[in-house]
Amino acid sequence: MFLNTVLLSLIVFVRYLCFAGGLYYLCYVWKRSAWQSKRIATEPPSLKVMRHEFKYSVISSVIFGFMGAWMYDLWQKGNTLIYLDFSKYGLAYAVFSLFVMMLIHDTYFYWTHRLLHIPWFYKKMHRVHHSSPNPSPWAAFCFHPIEAFIESFYMPIIVFTVPAHPAVVIIFLMLMTVLGVINHLGYELYPAVFHRNKFLQGIISATNHSVHHRFNRFNYALYFTWWDDLMRTRYLLDKTVLRKAGKVGIDSELHDLTGLTPVTEDGNSFESKFPSLHIEF
Ligand SMILES: [Zn+2]
Ligand SMILES: [Zn+2]
Repeated sequence: MFLNTVLLSLIVFVRYLCFAGGLYYLCYVWKRSAWQSKRIATEPPSLKVMRHEFKYSVISSVIFGFMGAWMYDLWQKGNTLIYLDFSKYGLAYAVFSLFVMMLIHDTYFYWTHRLLHIPWFYKKMHRVHHSSPNPSPWAAFCFHPIEAFIESFYMPIIVFTVPAHPAVVIIFLMLMTVLGVINHLGYELYPAVFHRNKFLQGIISATNHSVHHRFNRFNYALYFTWWDDLMRTRYLLDKTVLRKAGKVGIDSELHDLTGLTPVTEDGNSFESKFPSLHIEF
């Protein structure tokens, strides 16, 4: 189990490094000037914020690796619903099982995320994730270690309830990572049709999750907007309005536009200052 934890932690970390690093390079280096219009925040995230996000993501990778090793152990002992014979359920089921896994994870994430915004939990744990109203792609795994442990419990729920082929589990984990990075990208890369089409609107975008970081409330889900729609916690802003998020001194303007108080980053003490704390319970 120890060796598996080390190996899986490395795999989780390299996967994070590839997706976060790749998308960071694409948006903030290679296409930096060409993609100005896609930017959500005016200012790029500070080095201090990115260092904080990276540090906690490394710790989370080890926790996710431990959880993966535990699931592997349970699988080897025949205690999970994971199956090896792909033809047993076929391709249509494989696609369906991927969707069900995402739905279960989204539900688990939404409700644990709502709990983490209760002030006590927020102060003790979740503020680590909200280190900046203007996060970077490196924030994908930036959680307090206890929060990372709580968040990783979707894994046992899935392996005990959804018959799944290992290849589908791997695709699911890749999607989980890349979508987590996209949510914190600071760039809106999805085409405009994602914001017009009724079905595509249900897929969470960088703009959607930026609202969560900017106001410390709304848009709690991970993949789909459905739980936020159902619980009336969804709030959408156009990225041109949201772009003001990175600009110092225009908070009153953003407040006038939305009626909400945005969070401001205090460059000197962002780790201890979280003024706009709201809960929807
Ligand atoms: Zn949050
Ligand atoms: Zn976030």
